Amino acid sequence: MVQEYKNIAIIGAGASGSLCAYFLLNNLTPSQPSPSREGVSITMFDKGLPLRTLLPTGGGRCNLAHAEYDPRELAKNYPRGEKFLYSVFSKFSTCDTLEVFEKMGIKCYTQENGRIFPESNSAKDVRETILANIKNAQFVKEEVVKITPIDGGFKVNTTSPHPTPPHPGKESAYFFTDVILAIGGHSGLKLAQEMGIKIIEQKPSLVGLNTKENFKELSGTVIKNVKSDDIIDDILFTHFGVSGPLIYTLSSLKAFDNIPYKLYIDLAPELLDLQKDLNIYPHKDIKNILNKYLPQKIISFILKDIVSETTKAHQINGKIRDLILNTIHNFNINITGTNKGEETVTAGGIDLNEINPKTMEIKKIPNLYAIGEILNIDGFCGGYNLQNAWSTAYVCAEALSNK
Ligand SMILES: Cc1cc2nc3c(=O)[nH]c(=O)nc-3n(C[C@H](O)[C@H](O)[C@H](O)COP(=O)(O)OP(=O)(O)OC[C@H]3O[C@@H](n4cnc5c(N)ncnc54)[C@H](O)[C@@H]3O)c2cc1C
Repeated sequence: MVQEYKNIAIIGAGASGSLCAYFLLNNLTPSQPSPSREGVSITMFDKGLPLRTLLPTGGGRCNLAHAEYDPRELAKNYPRGEKFLYSVFSKFSTCDTLEVFEKMGIKCYTQENGRIFPESNSAKDVRETILANIKNAQFVKEEVVKITPIDGGFKVNTTSPHPTPPHPGKESAYFFTDVILAIGGHSGLKLAQEMGIKIIEQKPSLVGLNTKENFKELSGTVIKNVKSDDIIDDILFTHFGVSGPLIYTLSSLKAFDNIPYKLYIDLAPELLDLQKDLNIYPHKDIKNILNKYLPQKIISFILKDIVSETTKAHQINGKIRDLILNTIHNFNINITGTNKGEETVTAGGIDLNEINPKTMEIKKIPNLYAIGEILNIDGFCGGYNLQNAWSTAYVCAEALSNK
């Protein structure tokens, strides 16, 4: 059988684009070697350095997956994309990620909370290892500004990045049989929109939230294991509002809610019987009774509108006790926005109805594919977003290799 020559462009050399190049070049799966990829050339375009987006991941340690090995359970961690990912994860899931990275020379370990990291704890190492494994792909440091479907493939127009006025960036045009869009969630979606692909408006997710309340005096205070909407995790008060793991999760679940909205937080779910504490320690200041449950700064913040913090326990009557309890268990926060530029991922992107989940091909534009965060898929914190990048990259590369 004569194999048709494929000249593939990958637009975006981030997590998904780079792994897709790896799969295409190394043909393919962790467990299933296949014939060599002669007859394929791969060109990666990026307006910046390849895989620079990996460097800040996991605080520089690269939380590259999550120890959930059941594909359906894994998919539950994506507020957008769960059903679509059933099919994707049935082809490439957490085990496969570990196998592929091990094959590249990256051994991983699992933290107590299920987050998976490279043993080196270094995103830089992961980046360098992946890059060493895809050096047979051609890399072009140019920004893609337009993609036009033409007979037999696509015309890809680029400009050299960072033109300095009055000198415009140098423009070039290239031709490819297949194009993979892997531009992530942070660069806008004009390229896709111009080809008539339906887009779901992008919203920031996994992000700190601005509040109407001024929490400056609490800035830097963390309260562990607070509860909201049945989620228990830590909250961090900041100069702009609130942040930390709980808020990241809520920002994801509420990414499409109309702002402003209110959050109700139980700051001390384990505080069940304040009256008992008041009875046991009648001569203790109320602030010292509460500091078993809450940091001192937040106690002062809560008590300031209710009662002096040096009021003795026996002086706290039922009405004041209930006021204190209500403020602690129903701490009310008015959300006025998301903290601009802090978002870890974007919710929204290419409408999943436009994509064949078995191939990642855009249904109405044959030979055009989309992978990674450009899709209307986003997960919680914990390695899920990189898993989406690796898995969709795999499915796309598999489809291209089988064509
Ligand atoms: C600070 C931070 C920490 C994170 N930590 C984690 C973590 O620990 N675990 C986890 O699972 N996820 C994490 N994420 C999310 C994860 O990094 C992304 O979901 C993932 O990188 C998305 O991969 P991608 O390939 O779709 O896009 P990206 O990795 O963003 O890559 C897109 C690439 O496309 C290029 N590009 C864009 N437009 C063009 C154009 N027109 N022409 C040419 N090139 C273009 C960009 O320069 C970029 O290199 C983190 C994100 C951030 C911001």
